[in-house]
Amino acid sequence: MADVNEVVIIGSGPAGLTAAIYAARAGLEPLVIEGYGAGGQLMITTDVENYPGFPDGVEGPEMMQMFRRQAERFGTRFITADVSRVDFSAQPFRVWVGDDEHAGKAIVVSTGASAKWLGIEGEQRMMGRGVSACATCDGFFFKDKPVVVVGGGDTAMEEALFLTRMCESVTVVHRRDEFRASAIMAQRVLDNPKITVRWNAAVVDVEGDQVVTGVKVQDTVTGEESVIPAAAMFVAIGHQPNTSLFEGLLDMDDEGYLHTQPDSTYTNIDGVFACGDVQDTVYRQAVTAAGSGCMAAIDAERWLEAREAGAPDHAGATASAD
Ligand code: NDP
Repeated sequence: MADVNEVVIIGSGPAGLTAAIYAARAGLEPLVIEGYGAGGQLMITTDVENYPGFPDGVEGPEMMQMFRRQAERFGTRFITADVSRVDFSAQPFRVWVGDDEHAGKAIVVSTGASAKWLGIEGEQRMMGRGVSACATCDGFFFKDKPVVVVGGGDTAMEEALFLTRMCESVTVVHRRDEFRASAIMAQRVLDNPKITVRWNAAVVDVEGDQVVTGVKVQDTVTGEESVIPAAAMFVAIGHQPNTSLFEGLLDMDDEGYLHTQPDSTYTNIDGVFACGDVQDTVYRQAVTAAGSGCMAAIDAERWLEAREAGAPDHAGATASAD
């Protein structure tokens, strides 16, 4: 059996690192298994201008470096690798990185979510130079410019409506002839004079050298190609929570987002807590992720304390997974 840690935190975005800062300051010497993609989605964000405390903005990777340094300062230990397997069926919980086993009395799951991408070449090339998956983060940089939003769900509607506040015009490119979005959101988009919808259109390339100048689409009915002039392309085709490790163990919704109990970070397994985008289908912001990371550390600390004191498990949570 490996050494038993008080808390093992899986994932190192704003949620996991905030959980680490709080757990470390509580003397729990957390072990963070930060993943090869350490830092989470902010590592692919250029400027963060909406995180309180940074009036001049901060680059996403720089901010995550600061989070990490702060966690390290109080005694957090890091392993830079992906977790390959977990066993939450008995105490202490066990987590593997390849063949290396790590044990924890409490676990914080903060593996985040990943934006889905179209998978076309131009998208990768222009990432951070006009291609984005977050209008709230990057919309402001395209003030008074024409932009494209790709997708037909509620996220695409929300992003398009948000962008009309600062952009000159918004073209929503959708691959079918009707939206998947809720009727009310779809109607708001259709009624907005700043938004044009390009139906039955698939994005085939992103035009531009240093910055995006247009989005090339192909009509899925006629096969005809055309370029929509745009300074940015916002891809809004959904997110994928990173929860495949926990299938069959932790309760999740149909899309894989973890269920947490109301007003807490408790999952269905007592001693396993979830925070950040992996359990958030609504807000998905760095600051809300950090807030829920703080909650997870406090929940874990109190749970460990109660357990040491011999108190019964948290009401409503089950003791183990099947
Ligand atoms: P959805 O899965 O609902 O929608 C994804 C959209 O992207 C669909 O229109 C889909 O097209 C399109 N799409 C998927 N893959 C591709 C691709 N490879 N190329 C082109 N288009 C593609 O995801 P959302 O993120 O929009 O929403 C997720 C959940 O969150 C939903 O339940 C939604 O209701 C909810 N939500 C609610 C909000 C609110 O109420 N304010 C705001 C945001 C999200 P197609 O339709 O053809 O499948």
